[in-house]
Amino acid sequence: MQPAVTRLDIDLHCHSTVSDGTLPPAAVVERAAAQGVRVLALTDHDTLASAGSALEAGAAAGVAVVPGVEISTLWQGRELHVVGLRVDPADTALLRALEQNRGRRRARAGRMADKLIRSGVTEAREVLEQAGDAVPTRTHFARFLHDRGYVNDVQQAFDRYLKRGKRAWVGVDWMSMEQAVGRIRAAGGQAVLAHPLAYGMTGAWMRRVLTAFREAGGAAVEVCCGNTGPQRIQTAVGYALRYGLMGSVGSDFHGPENPWIELGRLRPLPATVAPIWRDWPADLQPLC
Ligand code: AMP
Ligand code: MN
Ligand code: MN
Ligand code: MN
Repeated sequence: MQPAVTRLDIDLHCHSTVSDGTLPPAAVVERAAAQGVRVLALTDHDTLASAGSALEAGAAAGVAVVPGVEISTLWQGRELHVVGLRVDPADTALLRALEQNRGRRRARAGRMADKLIRSGVTEAREVLEQAGDAVPTRTHFARFLHDRGYVNDVQQAFDRYLKRGKRAWVGVDWMSMEQAVGRIRAAGGQAVLAHPLAYGMTGAWMRRVLTAFREAGGAAVEVCCGNTGPQRIQTAVGYALRYGLMGSVGSDFHGPENPWIELGRLRPLPATVAPIWRDWPADLQPLC
């Protein structure tokens, strides 16, 4: 039996206001410290803009900050999220590739606003103003639809408007999975396939994805995510072992509004899987 959800002192996946989180980078790091996290990767969507302030806040709060990013990618027409860890946040090729993804996001956001206006959400352009300098995501639209009373909660916004095939859905030609993994590696980092069980893929598709991810140079799968239960962890452990991948852990924290997801609130990585931090320096090793 796996122990119940517990607290780890390492968390390698979370978000700040630089993308779709609700706390600024420094506040995420301070909250992590308060939760007992000692090693943290802030992994905003398609940007490394939070790396500097996160490192600075980490130095002040006693948290070792691992530069990270979560990249939206496509593989065979399917969207996959690839987390890059320990990348050089100044790597120009990676920064350029991320800027391209952000350009795609800005274009999509405009088209989503147009679609929402046609669906009766007449003030939808305000989402873009509200997002300000943040990397625009569907989460911004979901919160807006909730705030303006179009839906009862954020989940309903996804279900009614934002999911693939719904009224405001706009597909994006993200960078390829292979390109993302290549850029992460060339920037000195390691690539992690985020939340492998969140893609709604059949086992056959997952096997193909994992084979391709491994061949592209991917290092690990996220075995323990925010609120994954023991069964899903075992499935992800199976993926890691079968495809020669290491394991990572990450809450995917987006802010205190979601009380069921907290920084460091994760089940431990089962000992059968090699942790992605296995060869990291001593100051990046978790104690528990
Ligand atoms: P985007 O990358 O802009 O397509 O937005 C993806 C983000 O939306 C994810 O990182 C999650 O934070 C959030 N998200 C995606 N699907 C859902 C869902 N069904 N319910 C709530 N949030 C979701
Ligand atoms: Mn997100
Ligand atoms: Mn994701
Ligand atoms: Mn995420």
